Amino acid sequence: MENHWTILPPGNIGITTEPVTASDKTENVLRALIFSGQLGPGDKLPSERELAIQLSTSRPTLRTALRALEALGFIVVKIGSKGGFWISDAETIRKRWNDWMHANQHQIEEMLDFRRWVEVEIARRAAERRTPEDIAVLEACCEAPAPDRLSLVRWHMGVHDAIAEAAHNKYLEHAMATIRGQLFAPVDTRPFDQRTADVVAVHLPLIKAVCAGDQAEAAKVMTDLVEKAEAPFHA
Ligand SMILES: [Zn+2]
Repeated sequence: MENHWTILPPGNIGITTEPVTASDKTENVLRALIFSGQLGPGDKLPSERELAIQLSTSRPTLRTALRALEALGFIVVKIGSKGGFWISDAETIRKRWNDWMHANQHQIEEMLDFRRWVEVEIARRAAERRTPEDIAVLEACCEAPAPDRLSLVRWHMGVHDAIAEAAHNKYLEHAMATIRGQLFAPVDTRPFDQRTADVVAVHLPLIKAVCAGDQAEAAKVMTDLVEKAEAPFHA
């Protein structure tokens, strides 16, 4: 998949009031891409030149960010014919994710609060305000994604985006987009087929409730979903 992915805005990993350097920002974006599954274990990163363009950053800034992620174990550098930057293996990513989550516990609690409040309200508002156009978009989401990781990640983000859009409140939509990179656990140990089936199965009732205009049901399904999503953070 090298060089063939395009970046969805991943949101930020970590909220800080401190000013951060350009390389910190790039590092956060890359980490968010890993955490959101857009960059998976064992993926090769695009060339430095292409990556700098995609991330709208300079190559020296990118290099600093890559070195920092390498030092933290998120990526590995290979030399020779298969040279370049690669995402670490699944087990390493899972460990690094765990470390990161534990080091940022206060942020996680706040993020989970945010999800309980904002996402549930988004689902309720979407059920109330969805237009025929929103329903058409949501119904298109009922089709299961292609059987590969990136398609699943995009399908999943697409469902949440479509629901956020159907709420017709730009602030709510924006609020969701900013934490997107923290919404997903990066490594799932279930076999891929099973994972796809599970992810689709838990989101279909949400789509149906929103399309049906059932506010209480939409809020309830989203509450369940957020609670399920919390499990890995408390592990
Ligand atoms: Zn979801």
